[in-house]
Amino acid sequence: MRLLLVEDDTMIGEAIRAGLRREGFAVDWVHDGETAEQVLKNEPFDLLLLDLGLPRRSGLAVLTALRARGDALPVIILTARDAVSDRVQGLDAGADDYLVKPFDLNELAARIRALLRRKSGQAAPAIEHLGVILNPATHTVQRDGKDVALSPKEFALLQLLMERPGTLHPRARIEARLYGWGEEVESNAVEVHVHGLRRKLGADFILTVRGVGYRVRPT
Ligand code: CA
Repeated sequence: MRLLLVEDDTMIGEAIRAGLRREGFAVDWVHDGETAEQVLKNEPFDLLLLDLGLPRRSGLAVLTALRARGDALPVIILTARDAVSDRVQGLDAGADDYLVKPFDLNELAARIRALLRRKSGQAAPAIEHLGVILNPATHTVQRDGKDVALSPKEFALLQLLMERPGTLHPRARIEARLYGWGEEVESNAVEVHVHGLRRKLGADFILTVRGVGYRVRPT
């Protein structure tokens, strides 16, 4: 899952990015509202973490413009302000959730997972398909009742594919969702992760659509 973090405070931003990367999220970080707007128009993200007090353009303006374009990207507001009116304004402008700084990184990660789950139409915390159960909250995968150990990228790839079983995911799009800027990506990285997943989950669990991408075998 790829997140965009918009935060002008360097220490807070570094802590959030490091904490969420440990949780297996790909995190891209920009420091002002104007850059956030440009990036949001041009790159695919699964969720936006948005500070309200930002240089060049306020978080509220970024959010308002996003929703005015009809973009339904899940948004969590991160704000140091304790004024209730800021949070109300943010929610009214289309934010899905908010956290008041300072907050616990575990709570942020849990809220991100909950929001992504709701947005993908998954009310239950675990996703099940063809005997494979993936639980985003606990970061665990089971196959036929037995635990399967996956690397963070394998887990992220499997989650992406399992959220819409049968849907074709182009390789370039997968790569964009798994890796943030500045992360070293080998040209065959996605193939390597697919190979790892097939070894652990069965050769035919993930199908290759030659020259295009991958999908989970439909039922
Ligand atoms: Ca700020």
